[in-house]
Amino acid sequence: MALVTKSIKGTQDTLPSESYKIQFVEQTVLETAKNYGYKEIRVPVFEHTELFQRGVGDTTDVVQKEMYTFEDKGGRSITLRPEGTAGVVRSYLEHGLFNEPQPMKMCYLISCYRYEKPQAGRLREFHQFGCECLGTASPAADAEVISLVNDIFLFLGVKDIELQINSIGCPECRKNYHKALHEYFESKKADLCGTCLDRLERNPMRILDCKSPVCSAIAAEAPKVTDYLCDECAEHFGKVQEYLKAMEIPFTVNPSIVRGLDYYTKTVFEFVSTQIGAQGTVCGGGRYDGLVEEVGGPKTPALGFAMGMERLLLLMEAQNLPFPEEAKCDLYIASMGEKATLRAARIATDLRGEGLHAQFDVVGRSVKAQMKFANKLGAAFTMVLGDSELENGKAKLKNMATGEEREIQLDSFADDFMRISINESLKGLEDLGYESNIDIDSIMSGNLF
Ligand SMILES: [Zn+2]
Ligand SMILES: [Zn+2]
Repeated sequence: MALVTKSIKGTQDTLPSESYKIQFVEQTVLETAKNYGYKEIRVPVFEHTELFQRGVGDTTDVVQKEMYTFEDKGGRSITLRPEGTAGVVRSYLEHGLFNEPQPMKMCYLISCYRYEKPQAGRLREFHQFGCECLGTASPAADAEVISLVNDIFLFLGVKDIELQINSIGCPECRKNYHKALHEYFESKKADLCGTCLDRLERNPMRILDCKSPVCSAIAAEAPKVTDYLCDECAEHFGKVQEYLKAMEIPFTVNPSIVRGLDYYTKTVFEFVSTQIGAQGTVCGGGRYDGLVEEVGGPKTPALGFAMGMERLLLLMEAQNLPFPEEAKCDLYIASMGEKATLRAARIATDLRGEGLHAQFDVVGRSVKAQMKFANKLGAAFTMVLGDSELENGKAKLKNMATGEEREIQLDSFADDFMRISINESLKGLEDLGYESNIDIDSIMSGNLF
């Protein structure tokens, strides 16, 4: 296949026949976030490279190995966002959002870019849903953010997902912890991998993240951060757990969750599933009380999370969860001849104005071919218009599910069809066991509620 008709490694198309799934997930996450007072923020795909160097952290793999960085034609160093938080914090500072009532609750659905080895659910262009809550230090906020993620999984019907939490303390208590870690790893220096030797001097906590089996075995015996928390951090972590219990959200404390990103403080959490391979984290988040200052703003406690949309979809598919089918075509109008097609266009326009999904022939096919197409669309009703129908002012409307036909006047078509269509929907509801005493006239006149 020619190069231009092949997508770039690590990228993926969402085809029209599949997009209803991601649309359903996107709608669900946005609506859940809305219940918690989050409003959407949209930020650019690229930012100054320095923002990510400072905001994500120079020592991280993301910044060192994975960013798409290039010089633009004006000689600026530009980077495609590898994650969402840095850009949102930049925007918060640039537009003085700290002057508005706090906390500032912002959510986003974005594409991100990392030059990684592509694997299932891990692409070079991937998509994230994220929430950031800026301007609160309270442990109640930590629990609320976790509750939001928990609700998303509940609403989507995702099962067997475990919430794991930990506290990685503040710079104050981490000083002691780093010292203890350094001492411990120093004594195992001979066995550590090259990368970890470098980490030992720069940021020993990152050794806990190493995927090499030898390093992970050493890390498993390392001192636990929760044993080094200062009074304030220990109290904060205790309160977060108290709130989670009050909200009836089950969790386990996992002292080995740390963060590759430098700006995280106190609470970290992950929602983990065993059903999408070894690295089953579908959502990760936590506090980043140091980030806003790091990027050049006033000291601002903050927290948030991000979830990978591709992984979430993989998980939902692995669990065979239902995605509501997109609405089928309500009416397909087949037509013979130009005059009839003009009338069909007019009727379709009227129905769309009423919020219905209507289609007519825009290809110029034979009636037989049009009906075949209507079948593929899964049209609920069809109608054929030709010269005699135009002359008589009426046509036959066919219910494709039952085969039942009825005559319908073309003059009052939109109104009559609306009635028939609503009636079918109500019947469908009754078949599902819902009792409906809804009066069609009140629906038609918009006076239902
Ligand atoms: Zn502390
Ligand atoms: Zn290592």
